[in-house]
Amino acid sequence: MTSVLITGIRELATNDATHPGPDDHRDPTGLLGLVDNAAVVLEGSTIAWVGPASSAPAADTVYDAGGRAVIPGYVDSHSHLVFSGDRAQEFAARMTGEPYSAGGIRTTVADTRAASDEQLMSHVARLVAEMRAQGTTSLEIKSGYGLTVHDEARSLAVARHFTEDTTFLGAHVVPADTTPEDYVDLVTGPMLTAAAPHARWIDVFCEDGAFDVDQARAILAAGTDNGLRGRLHANQLTYGAGVQLAAELGLVAVDHCTYLADDDVSALADSGTIATLLPGVEFSTRHPYPDARALIDAGVRVAIASDCNPGSCFTSSMALCIALAVREMRMSPAEALHAATAMGAAALDRDDVGVIAPGKRADLVLLDAPSYLHLAYRPGVPLVAGVWQGGRPVAPLV
Ligand SMILES: [Zn+2]
Repeated sequence: MTSVLITGIRELATNDATHPGPDDHRDPTGLLGLVDNAAVVLEGSTIAWVGPASSAPAADTVYDAGGRAVIPGYVDSHSHLVFSGDRAQEFAARMTGEPYSAGGIRTTVADTRAASDEQLMSHVARLVAEMRAQGTTSLEIKSGYGLTVHDEARSLAVARHFTEDTTFLGAHVVPADTTPEDYVDLVTGPMLTAAAPHARWIDVFCEDGAFDVDQARAILAAGTDNGLRGRLHANQLTYGAGVQLAAELGLVAVDHCTYLADDDVSALADSGTIATLLPGVEFSTRHPYPDARALIDAGVRVAIASDCNPGSCFTSSMALCIALAVREMRMSPAEALHAATAMGAAALDRDDVGVIAPGKRADLVLLDAPSYLHLAYRPGVPLVAGVWQGGRPVAPLV
């Protein structure tokens, strides 16, 4: 097995709290386990050693980071990449005053059904490559633009080529040609049977205009019976009982969490369910941002993800999400990076990624900056100078 020593790292963010970290403004609570003047040794696909460059062991090859920062690869725990077409004109209409509603999904459903398997595959491949070039090394991909037995199953089969974390979201919206009752029967019956072999998770869009909390409960229960684990889209557009349901069921994560009552916040703190915030959605829809500060201060575990999708948020940039989390949701820079890496991994119940420590998968991002702070400090600037995924360089190292 070939080993690689990455040295000359001015600042290494490990997410490993066993490193004491510097005594300055970069990470006052020690969340990131920063190591200055650091080195990392990769052995094959895993991390073998982490510490000060001055005591690094020898390796087969050496890469000099040249005084730049290294962070863990982003773990984007919420995306909808399997689709065809785009909705740029809907975006333009929204920016000139028309409101966002859940119904726009149907436009993408028609385009997705009309696409061939090959077209879907190449479209997802292009988006995954776009994400990887920006530092995302792990991701979740949902179905939800097929909404027939055949189209949901093939969407998940496509997604499975790119990640183990595939999510069956047949309950995205009720198609125009059926009733809610009949559609829930389909989702919990033949569609689930066809989707389950290709999925790890099951998800429901629990919202006015989509599925109510009783329907969500029934769909999640059917998924559990078929070996899938539950997640939820909830409380995105208005207050509702979705977040309470997620906490009651002990789901690993509930996503959006834009409109939360005090009871919702305390339920999340008590259950340990991660609130995955998707600030690119609020940015792209001009909606108010979720109150990340209140969640964190109440002891809720918070992740951030892209929600990359053609309707409400077509960004694949986790760096943009970090900048928005810091500037618009009052997260500290350290909280935002941790939420986009270690907490993204936790939201997928993964312990092999999101941390730079011995034994973890060698997923690292080299930044063209001396500190991770530049992700929020220099919004919109492309700062990724290199990416290692499973120990392999997958984006240019310059
Ligand atoms: Zn979503």
